[in-house]
Amino acid sequence: AEGAVAVLASSRPTVEAYAEAARRGRLVDLGSGTPRTGVTLVDHARDTPAVSRELEARLRANLARGEAAVLFLNRRGYAAQVECGGCGAVPRCPRCDIALVYHKAEDRLVCHYCGYAVAADKACDGCGGRIVVRRGAGTQAVEEELKRLFPGVRVARFDSDTAGTPAEREALLADFAKGDVPLLVGTQLLVHQPGVPRVPLVGVLKPEALLGLSDYRAAQKAFESVSAMLDLRRDGPGAEAVVQTAAPAHFAVAAAAAGDYRAFYEKEIESRRMLGYPPFAELAEVTILGRDVRSLGAKSRELLVLFKAAGTGLEVLGPAFPPVARVKGLTRVQFVLKAPERETIDRALRESLAKLRLKKTVSFSYSPFS
Ligand SMILES: [Zn+2]
Ligand SMILES: [Zn+2]
Repeated sequence: AEGAVAVLASSRPTVEAYAEAARRGRLVDLGSGTPRTGVTLVDHARDTPAVSRELEARLRANLARGEAAVLFLNRRGYAAQVECGGCGAVPRCPRCDIALVYHKAEDRLVCHYCGYAVAADKACDGCGGRIVVRRGAGTQAVEEELKRLFPGVRVARFDSDTAGTPAEREALLADFAKGDVPLLVGTQLLVHQPGVPRVPLVGVLKPEALLGLSDYRAAQKAFESVSAMLDLRRDGPGAEAVVQTAAPAHFAVAAAAAGDYRAFYEKEIESRRMLGYPPFAELAEVTILGRDVRSLGAKSRELLVLFKAAGTGLEVLGPAFPPVARVKGLTRVQFVLKAPERETIDRALRESLAKLRLKKTVSFSYSPFS
């Protein structure tokens, strides 16, 4: 409205929100803020050892001072980690630039935006190395490694296995706050947990796993997560953080380590522009559900024809199976619709779905979708 002032209160707005505020001239740019110091990026491409020597040395010194530390590891719960065994790069769709997802049944790597698929044993585009599918070392492996490195020191794990209930979370945090447990290993669950005491040493392990999310916002999510993890570090002299990663040069990781939102934003907005993702286009995810895979296949082919006929300016990606295609006996097939204007997508949806007559089994959501 006239005279309204949008206040962007977040220190880490989404690139969409930041671009919109800048476009409206409502942006009070506070600069890059205070740069983050004392963060060491360690190039660590391997799964073993789970804890790098650099991090181990700092943990040892920190424990000797009687201080506590928190280690973060993002374990993907719903899909195996797919990466190059040589350089650690995540294979991406050549058309959509999102990470490919491993489909075990067909032993293929699949783009869940456009349906592009390739044999799982393909060579890495970057180094020619072999693509490997692994379950990846989770928080449990890190916990065991810490117990081996520091015998007699209590280590606790904060993830969905050990901190599934509010009572469990409270008990774990109480022990940690009292100093009974000086080493805490956590997942995203710990990042989002309020009231975690700040510590002088934070370790971030394998943040590149976040870049492997098959989502055009993967870099944004990685930047946000790593920043939030590093925010758990106590201010003050001697406070340190170690980010051990196979991708120390990736802009999202490097900018989070440096505490530089502007550096992140400028790279990310350029990549969105190049690839035609929001805020430069509207995106809608259309999912159709069905019990019978065959009729679902027929319906999705029908829908594809209708979408393609729906008019100019609409880009249709798919049909593709999302990462979790079958839930409770229902199979999901997904389209991603892309257009400069939302009205183009709305019209295509209205017209196509009216002709298809299966409204009840169709769900759709606009970007940003998850
Ligand atoms: Zn490689
Ligand atoms: Zn694709």
